[in-house]
Amino acid sequence: MSVLIYSEEPGLRLELLGKGRELADAMDSKLAALQIGNGNPEELIKYGADLVYVAEHPLLEEWSLEPYRSVLLRAVEEASPSVILIGATKRGKELAASLAASLGVGLLTECISLKLEDEKLIAERLTYGGSAIARVASLKKPHIATVPPRVFKRPEPAERTGEVLKLEVEPEKPKAEVVERRGKVREEVGLEEAEVIVAAGRGFKKQEDLKLLEELAEILGAKIGCTRPIAADYGWMKEWIGISGHKVRPKLYIAVGISGTVHHAAGIRDCGIIVAINSDENANIFNLADYGIVGDLYEVLPALTKALKERLKK
Ligand SMILES: Cc1cc2nc3c(=O)[nH]c(=O)nc-3n(C[C@H](O)[C@H](O)[C@H](O)COP(=O)(O)OP(=O)(O)OC[C@H]3O[C@@H](n4cnc5c(N)ncnc54)[C@H](O)[C@@H]3O)c2cc1C
Repeated sequence: MSVLIYSEEPGLRLELLGKGRELADAMDSKLAALQIGNGNPEELIKYGADLVYVAEHPLLEEWSLEPYRSVLLRAVEEASPSVILIGATKRGKELAASLAASLGVGLLTECISLKLEDEKLIAERLTYGGSAIARVASLKKPHIATVPPRVFKRPEPAERTGEVLKLEVEPEKPKAEVVERRGKVREEVGLEEAEVIVAAGRGFKKQEDLKLLEELAEILGAKIGCTRPIAADYGWMKEWIGISGHKVRPKLYIAVGISGTVHHAAGIRDCGIIVAINSDENANIFNLADYGIVGDLYEVLPALTKALKERLKK
């Protein structure tokens, strides 16, 4: 009996160790971590692991589902975990689903809370675009759950002892071959890290009008974001904020000409202060906002920019 964690993303791995430690302690069992490829297993021990399985093989140098899944299955064989936590990255989600199918068990996805009750693993997860929380239970062991980044706190490192074990693996061959790799062109880099974001919605009538937003962004040192139609339908920007786009968490988010649908709201729920500018006083964005300005953005934005400029001069 143990808890096993895996993520290829280093920060998320530490967050999984924090939650994994708590679950392992509750079961009075060990916490194991799987490390595929290079890394520092000693660090994982400092953050709470009792043992670290290290798997290395040329087939693991590139991500591919089948070899990674077969290694995870080997680790499951070794650790006999009751609970498996996997980072909900793109790869992690694919891996977790495939692992659950291979083991014939269920999968709790994108969990924002996890606890053991009797022999079950109980999770909470956002649903309906983040407007409701579903409580779900895994009934069959090993319980498998995926966890998004920044949900659980990274534990404090401590001087601890643990074991590092080499996992003997003969990974399954991948069923797909990578033919070519092309870098993605990212225009609005760093939206996730931005401290201030000003975002445009369909209240803007023409692409040139975004200049009004750019002027405000310059004064505030803000990044510029938008709703999906602005990017996906109009092609005025490359990326958008929301359930199918970036999830952002700036200290200040200014939504301009955005109605505030559940799809957009799902991407801004972790923002500090939300300011909304909208001509429709009944727009849903005002239900999400801390401050609201009911008005025409074509009048409000120039006035706001002017006022901020004057204030900065003083
Ligand atoms: C599966 C799925 C996934 C989706 N994912 C996302 C997502 O990730 N992100 C996302 O944003 N959307 C997403 N959408 C689209 C989403 O449903 C909405 O269509 C979109 O969020 C609306 O964008 P908007 O607020 O810019 O436009 P609208 O809803 O048209 O709102 C425009 C707002 O501007 C205001 N306005 C108009 N003129 C002015 C003016 N002169 N001054 C001030 N205000 C003005 C209006 O009052 C209105 O409230 C998704 C949809 C689907 C089906």
